[in-house]
Amino acid sequence: MNRSLVLALVKEGGPVSRASIARSTTLAKPTVSAIVDELIADGLVREIGPGSTAVSGGRPPILLEFNARSQLVVGVHIGARRTTIAIGDAAGEEIARREFPTPRPPGGAAPGGGARPVAEPGAEPEVVLGKVAAEVRDAIAGAGLPGAKIAAVGAVLPGLTDFHTGVCLLAPNLGWRDVPVRDILAAELGAPVYVHNAGQAAAVAENLEGAGERVGDLALLYAGTGLSAGVLSDGRVFHGVGGTAGEIGHNAVPGIEEPCNCGNVGCLETVASGPAIVRAARRALAAGEPSALAGLDGFDARDVAAAAQAGDALAGAVIAAAGEHLGLAASWLINAYNPALVVVGGGLAAIGDLLLDPLRAAVERHALAPALRGVEIRASMLGPDAEVRGAVLLALQHSETYYRVVFRA
Ligand SMILES: [Zn+2]
Repeated sequence: MNRSLVLALVKEGGPVSRASIARSTTLAKPTVSAIVDELIADGLVREIGPGSTAVSGGRPPILLEFNARSQLVVGVHIGARRTTIAIGDAAGEEIARREFPTPRPPGGAAPGGGARPVAEPGAEPEVVLGKVAAEVRDAIAGAGLPGAKIAAVGAVLPGLTDFHTGVCLLAPNLGWRDVPVRDILAAELGAPVYVHNAGQAAAVAENLEGAGERVGDLALLYAGTGLSAGVLSDGRVFHGVGGTAGEIGHNAVPGIEEPCNCGNVGCLETVASGPAIVRAARRALAAGEPSALAGLDGFDARDVAAAAQAGDALAGAVIAAAGEHLGLAASWLINAYNPALVVVGGGLAAIGDLLLDPLRAAVERHALAPALRGVEIRASMLGPDAEVRGAVLLALQHSETYYRVVFRA
């Protein structure tokens, strides 16, 4: 605790002297000096020379500052299509980034039904994580920070994750089931690894750097190939005992009979996600409804959204129906968690008002009035950057260099 307090004061109030730390913490001067010596030995704090004047008229005190480049945090987002790696310093500032197509799973279909050239053989999870680790090492070597060590790694995956064990429980788009991501990456990189899902990471990133404006109590509805939610309580991810809190995409909706890739039937995700939008459009076309989509060879949710923007009635109705179902999900989050803000993230957020207007209308219908009071619903501000920024920020939150001092009256 004392170490945290001293480091926080140097980080947020620096440059500071040992004496002024002792005054603001009411710690004894020898205690402060011992902690400062330890922080200097660890490279987290450095001396920057004497201050200009001494208050007491004696020798000017030596000032201390936080050394943000002493430690690195690594954010990894393994997406269904692309993998992004960001290296940040101990203040979270990004100093290097790498991006490459996520290796295709063995025998697996291309995610989202899109066509992808099948040039290379499919890769097992160990191969994918090995490539991630190699890219991380290479990016750090290229950043020219000799001696800087990795304080923590945030690994973000598109599926069900167990934060407590660091296992990716199920990621259908990667073809992964029960993959010990934390243990594999920790062995490769020699640093602690924290595993989260994309919704949790996007929630943290939007809260700190995007649409959330640091509200702290925020729910992010993550709508893309799948549907999940990241819930923050006072800025921290709410995990639940098994790490799967927020997986509302697998809540059953009465009257829906669609099979879900979780094994159940009638999950919300089967009517409110990218693939759900494509299926609904195909069904309407098969029923003979006219649409510009009929002229396309194949289409994805983005094509349906583009047709809706251009005034296509079938596409507009499909997007609006998905928005209403997402509004149902948002009302569950509002009733269950009473957030200050709901952010809509994931790939579908880019559709904008055609999706968000019916979503907001459904929230008004379904959410409990006292829980809804003052709640705003906003689209993601960080877009496709949210997951990897969240990975960096989560690594920072979990690393020992991150402390938050809350002063209470
Ligand atoms: Zn399901």
